[in-house]
Amino acid sequence: MEKVRQIIKLEENIYEQLKSPQRFLEVSIPIKMDSGKVQVFKGYRSQFNDARGPFKGGIRYHPEVSESEVKALSMWMTWKTAVVDIPLGGGKGGVVVNPKELSVGELERLSRGYIQAIFEFIGPNIDVPAPDVYTDSRIMGWMADEYEKLAGQHAPGVITGKPLTVGGSKARVYATAQGGYYVLVKALEKIKIQEKRVAIQGFGNVGSNMAEILAKNGFVVIAVSDSSGGVFSSKGLDVAALIKHKEKTGSVINFGDAKNIDGDILEQEADVLILAALENAVTSQNVDKIKASLVIELANGPVTAEADEILGKKGIEVVPDILANAGGVVVSYFEQVQNAYGYYWEEEDVLKKLEKLMAKAFADVWAKKVQHECGLRIGAYALSVERVAQAMRDRGRG
Ligand code: NAD
Repeated sequence: MEKVRQIIKLEENIYEQLKSPQRFLEVSIPIKMDSGKVQVFKGYRSQFNDARGPFKGGIRYHPEVSESEVKALSMWMTWKTAVVDIPLGGGKGGVVVNPKELSVGELERLSRGYIQAIFEFIGPNIDVPAPDVYTDSRIMGWMADEYEKLAGQHAPGVITGKPLTVGGSKARVYATAQGGYYVLVKALEKIKIQEKRVAIQGFGNVGSNMAEILAKNGFVVIAVSDSSGGVFSSKGLDVAALIKHKEKTGSVINFGDAKNIDGDILEQEADVLILAALENAVTSQNVDKIKASLVIELANGPVTAEADEILGKKGIEVVPDILANAGGVVVSYFEQVQNAYGYYWEEEDVLKKLEKLMAKAFADVWAKKVQHECGLRIGAYALSVERVAQAMRDRGRG
């Protein structure tokens, strides 16, 4: 942030306001468990900045959710919505819980309880939650229903990532990977690479959808990994069959005549490396293993700051998470627009709009990189912080 502040010459008055959320809620959610005992769960909602539009960000269910994590993620959402230039601010929520330990009934009561606790602070024009780690479309359906019951009216735009039957958007399920693909195509127009061999770390929602999209578009996916290991094939993996194999066996390893990877997915001979697993996957300890010319961050924060600097010095371009994985929040925004109109788009319309928006965001970030002679990450932050700061000035908040 300090580096970006200097580059864009951000004034003190704005900078001070961007250090903490505009509002932070901590709530206690008492839930009657199946045993009859009441258990009290802690929940948070951080509303970081709404200069560009209503707060926007997911709700995480995880035993390690903390106040500082929710605050940091809400700041990060502020930059993400700004970098793709959608009229939304940044927020984030979380509940300290291991959802795997709850019955379906307990999970539903907790989800409704969280909405009851924050009801007066959210709404289609105030703050719009969405799914995040261990929350999904079913939970969003319950939450939207609870909000509408309390409001006494339909208000589907209060939450995104809903099931299609209650106002969800087509293509939302694979939007993050699809957005990442559009950005990758634009990056390849700038960074000329002869071959299109790709390695993907992580084969969950984002990684497997990305693999499928790449294979459909003529890329050769030579290696993928998940938490149990990785597989490699120099002629390219049959992605559709690999997805079925993972569904059946629970992992990507021991797949047909592909080789199990001995070492690290990072050191495979790929031209493009897609990081779609966890944060801090690439550190100063393992960064030198990377052979690719282009790295795409589909996960949140997979490359540490030190590793990022080393990659920059080596001339390996990294498309940062706030740009590369913004496809999900963009289609969330499209979902809200469709909810507001009560008119729903075909899948191809959603994709066309997503492509246009992601291509524009990439071009804007690239222009910043050229202007400030920096990497794409700093370029993306310079662009987004400047956009938020300008909206604050225009509102007289400077
Ligand atoms: P997921 O849980 O479906 O998949 C994660 C994958 O990573 C799994 O295949 C898991 O086996 C693998 N993995 C875990 N540890 C690994 C390791 N050490 N090496 C290799 N693979 C490992 O999660 P997801 O929804 O696909 O999200 C992946 C990342 O993308 C996360 O950082 C998430 O925050 C980010 N993200 C997701 C979305 C979305 O729409 N789902 C949007 C933005 C960002």
